[in-house]
Amino acid sequence: MIVLKGAEVSARIKAEVQQMLEGLGGRIPRLAIVRVGERPDDLSYERGAMKKMEAFGLEAKSYGFPETISDARFKEEFRKINEDPEVTGILLLKPLPKHICEKDIENMIDPKKDLDGISPANIAKVFAGDPSGFAPCTAEAVVEVLKANEIPIAGKRAVIVGRSMVVGKPLAMLLIKENATVTICHTKTVDLPGTCRNGEILVAAAGRAKMLNEEYVSPGAVVIDVGINVDNDGKLCGDVDFGSIETQAAMATPVPGGVGTVTTAVLARHLVQAAG
Ligand code: NAP
Repeated sequence: MIVLKGAEVSARIKAEVQQMLEGLGGRIPRLAIVRVGERPDDLSYERGAMKKMEAFGLEAKSYGFPETISDARFKEEFRKINEDPEVTGILLLKPLPKHICEKDIENMIDPKKDLDGISPANIAKVFAGDPSGFAPCTAEAVVEVLKANEIPIAGKRAVIVGRSMVVGKPLAMLLIKENATVTICHTKTVDLPGTCRNGEILVAAAGRAKMLNEEYVSPGAVVIDVGINVDNDGKLCGDVDFGSIETQAAMATPVPGGVGTVTTAVLARHLVQAAG
C-alpha cells in the first residue's frame, strides 16, 4: 500500500501560493482566526494554521474570546473583524458555544473573506459547481490529495462516510464536479461495510476512531482519511484502522500527516486568492 503523505501535496501548494504572492506587489494577506473558548482541538487547529501561514510567508492573527461572551457582544466583535480592511480572510473555529447563533455568523461573514466556505453564498457556489467562491478547505483538500497524486476521479465510484456541511456534503459536490459517481453514507446507512466496499475511492469523515477496517475496503481502493480523533491510548488517529487495511488498499492517507496538513495549505491558498 502506498502511503499518501500530506506534506508533499502541501509543498506543491506552497509553491503555488508563493507564485500568487508575487502578483500582489508586496502586499501580505492577513488571516484572522476567530475562536470562542479554549477547546483543545480548536487550539491545536489554530496553532497548525498559524504555523502554516508563517511557513507560507503569510500573516495570521488570533482573535480569542471567552466562552462566556454573550451572543450580542460576539456578533459586535465579529462585525469589527469582518469589516476590518486589514483582515483579508477569516477562519471561524466551530462549533461555537450553544448560546451563540452560528447561523447568524454564517450569514454575516463577508463571502469574499469566508475562506472556509461557511456562508450561504459560498455553499451555493459549491453546490452549483461554480469555482469562483471558497469551498470548505477540508473538502477541497481531499480533491487536492487525489489530483496531486494523479489518482483518476472521473468515472470512479467514490464513497464518503459522513454528511456534514464541512466535509461530506461539499466533498460530494466537488467529486461530482470531477465526474465521480458519489455515494454518501451516514449513521442510517444499511450495510455500511458493503456500501464502502463498493468505493474505488473511499473517504472516511465520520469522526469515529479507527472505525473503518479491512471489512470496509475493497482490494485496490484509494482510502482518504479525514478523521481526527484520539484513540484509547490518547494518541491522534483517523477514522481508518490503518494497519488493518494495508493489504487491501492500494493507497491511503495517514493520520496524522495526511489530509490535515493539506487543509491548512488550502486555507493559505484561499487567503492569497482573497487578496487578489
Ligand atoms: P460531524 O459533523 O460529526 O459529522 C460526522 C458524520 O459522520 C455525520 O454525517 C454522521 O452521520 C456520520 N457518522 C458518524 N458515525 C457514523 C457511523 N458509525 N456510521 C456511519 N456514519 C457515521 O463531523 P465532521 O465535522 O464532518 O468531521 C468528521 C471528522 O473529520 C472528525 O473526526 C473531524 O475531527 C475531522 N475533520 C478533519 C479536518 C481535517 O482538516 N482533516 C477538518 C474538519 C473535520 P449522521 O449525519 O447520520 O449523524
